[in-house]
Amino acid sequence: MTALHDILIVGGGIQGAGCAQAAAAAGYSVAVLDKYDRPGLGTSCKSSKLIHGGLRYLETAQIKLVYECLSERSLLLRNAPHLVKLEPFYIPVYKNSMRKPWMIWLGLALYALLSGKGFSKIPKKKWGELDGLNTKGLLAVYQYYDGQTDDQRLTETVMCSAQQLGAKFISSAELVSAQCSAGLCKAVYQQGDEQKQISAKIIINAAGPWVNLVLQRIIPKPQPADMDLVLGTHIVVPGSLEQGMYYMEAPQDRRAVFVLSQPDGIMIGTTETAFHGSPDQVDPPESDIEYLIEVYNHYFNPPICRSDVKRAFAGLRVLPTGGDAFSRSREIVIHTDAINPQVFTVYGGKLTAYRATGERVTKLVKHLLPKREQQADVKCLRLP
Ligand SMILES: Cc1cc2nc3c(=O)[nH]c(=O)nc-3n(C[C@H](O)[C@H](O)[C@H](O)COP(=O)(O)OP(=O)(O)OC[C@H]3O[C@@H](n4cnc5c(N)ncnc54)[C@H](O)[C@@H]3O)c2cc1C
Repeated sequence: MTALHDILIVGGGIQGAGCAQAAAAAGYSVAVLDKYDRPGLGTSCKSSKLIHGGLRYLETAQIKLVYECLSERSLLLRNAPHLVKLEPFYIPVYKNSMRKPWMIWLGLALYALLSGKGFSKIPKKKWGELDGLNTKGLLAVYQYYDGQTDDQRLTETVMCSAQQLGAKFISSAELVSAQCSAGLCKAVYQQGDEQKQISAKIIINAAGPWVNLVLQRIIPKPQPADMDLVLGTHIVVPGSLEQGMYYMEAPQDRRAVFVLSQPDGIMIGTTETAFHGSPDQVDPPESDIEYLIEVYNHYFNPPICRSDVKRAFAGLRVLPTGGDAFSRSREIVIHTDAINPQVFTVYGGKLTAYRATGERVTKLVKHLLPKREQQADVKCLRLP
């Protein structure tokens, strides 16, 4: 006989880990399946590794998202100071930048208002100290603060916190099928050569870019939401940034691109390239790598070339269908299904807001589960 869990979560990325932590804290019995052997080896180790409000989302008036992410940033700085650090970020504004100094000032003023953390203008005499930044045509440099983390380590730690609250993480376990009927979902997963069974009252599908593939394995088959997969590439080149990180406007298309510090060099990213392949095979396209080299060389000295790229990696964003990728909503969508009300699917979202997402999903599934005694408040829970 297999144990009957309250919740089966498919996916041990940051969203699955966040849901597991919140649900276990609310007292539910939780099991998480992930096809990889550790948490966070899908998209959640391919991000820009920022714990941020997303300054650029102010441009598209996603103020609620920015505010939520900044609140989560504050909580993480308090609850996980060993994993999330506030770092200085610089925004240089040039004569030909699309965003004029007053626009950046306005955006930063709003960001400061929402975060409670100020910003400043760097005096001209200090521009020469900024990590080889090109000063030709430079009009102003602003400095503000945002958070940085190790995304995969954060995901593993959140999963560890969920496990300490009683959740079970089952690694190298791929969901093969699930059959739901009133109050019971019987699932089959593949682990090595063996097929095993697990049962739960409900399923939370947190499979990142695989979400709609997972839905195809569930009977009755829930209606998938329309979504696009958009690929984001990062490259890492040798070197270090002494002063902080940089938020640049790509000369090719005016998108925001970060130049960030990593333990093994300088990381430049990201891109937004339409993706139509399998989420199992995500390679950084050569054109993305060239694009990022061009952005860096436009603003920094000495220039880099293709052979300087030590590593490149790419991840997939899950975005609601329609419009250009840069301006589309980054809000999480939690999809409930009329055909199969026992399945809840998490589309998109930010690494930064995993805790809020977990809490929201847990509230949503409550009415289908027995009353349980709350064990902890994730808002105050220190990460191990
Ligand atoms: C390029 C890029 C940069 C980003 N930068 C930032 C940033 O700086 N800050 C920020 O806040 N957010 C950022 N994001 C967003 C954030 O990284 C993602 O939203 C988040 O990592 C997605 O997590 P997830 O758990 O939904 O998906 P994933 O991490 O992909 O997890 C899904 C898991 O499901 C598992 N799975 C799939 N199918 C099955 C199955 N059948 N059985 C069992 N397991 C299965 C996979 O193995 C995987 O581990 C970025 C995203 C991208 C793409």
